[in-house]
Amino acid sequence: MTFKETMNPKERCLNALSGLKVDRPPILNPTNVATVELMDLVDAPFPDACRDPELNARLAATEYTELGFDCITPYFSIIQESSALGCEIQWEQKDNWPTVRMTNPIWKNPEDVMIPPNFLKHQDSIAITDSIKILKEQYGEEVAIVGKTMGPWTLAYHVFGVERFLLMSIDNPKETLDCLHRLKEISVLFGEAQIDAGADVLTFPDHATGDLVSGKYYEDFLLEIHQEMVEKLPVPLILHICGKTTDRMGYIAQSGMAAFHFDSKNDPQESMDIVDGKIRLVGNINNPETLYSKGPAEVRAEVYQCMDAGVQMIAPECAIPLATPLENLLEIPKAVRDWCSERK
Ligand SMILES: [Zn+2]
Repeated sequence: MTFKETMNPKERCLNALSGLKVDRPPILNPTNVATVELMDLVDAPFPDACRDPELNARLAATEYTELGFDCITPYFSIIQESSALGCEIQWEQKDNWPTVRMTNPIWKNPEDVMIPPNFLKHQDSIAITDSIKILKEQYGEEVAIVGKTMGPWTLAYHVFGVERFLLMSIDNPKETLDCLHRLKEISVLFGEAQIDAGADVLTFPDHATGDLVSGKYYEDFLLEIHQEMVEKLPVPLILHICGKTTDRMGYIAQSGMAAFHFDSKNDPQESMDIVDGKIRLVGNINNPETLYSKGPAEVRAEVYQCMDAGVQMIAPECAIPLATPLENLLEIPKAVRDWCSERK
């Protein structure tokens, strides 16, 4: 039987995030799917598309208009707030992500954490909030607009430097918590600004990743803060942590967030079993191998694996490589629909 859609993309995303009925699982990408091909198509290349609201909106919209995903996700990188805080940014060219230059971290101690008065007026904050306003106006009725606000752990890497912050977490847990509690105010401020601009959903990346810290760290340092974020930010939140995270998914399931964006290093069925219905999962098509260097057949197989396991929302595992071929991304919605036709 051919599967028929009965919902618009926005309704589908918001229903899936609240555990309500959906006609099919949405393709809900929490990070970014802007590729060099799409930048060329709409003449909105990096790094300008990260800094100019109009270019940003134009590029972001292709996720819906060209790829057929159910959402639009305009915050492409992870450095907008850090730039507004004063970190030095390596802006790169269109084939590379902007990054924070780690040679000169701006802060050393918790007391240094200070939100500049013009934070929300900074070009790199406005690039996102004004883009959301444009997208809301153009697509707000039909597509879910997904904003993004960095969690305090990720911000700490940028403002203190990764090494210094990780050393602090070993030597002085109290000071580390102090830093996180101060930094979380930035997460709230930028999140609220995006909600005011029209974001329906916020991704909350907080990179306490499997390769850098243990699962216990999540419980000790982040669980309570994440629960507090759910209280403070009144839209569905999607937590994003890359890498192997099965050792912390039990804690993550207690965060109260609407969904967890999980990495392909975690088996879909095993992950679904661990979270046991306490949080919804979104993911987890592999980026560096499957989407970047394999073909539609392999993409399809991973989509099917997620759907067979009952993963509620389908997406690439993280921000896709900028040279990912379009045909692989286009295969995701096709595979989701075909799965529905075959299994229903
Ligand atoms: Zn990631």
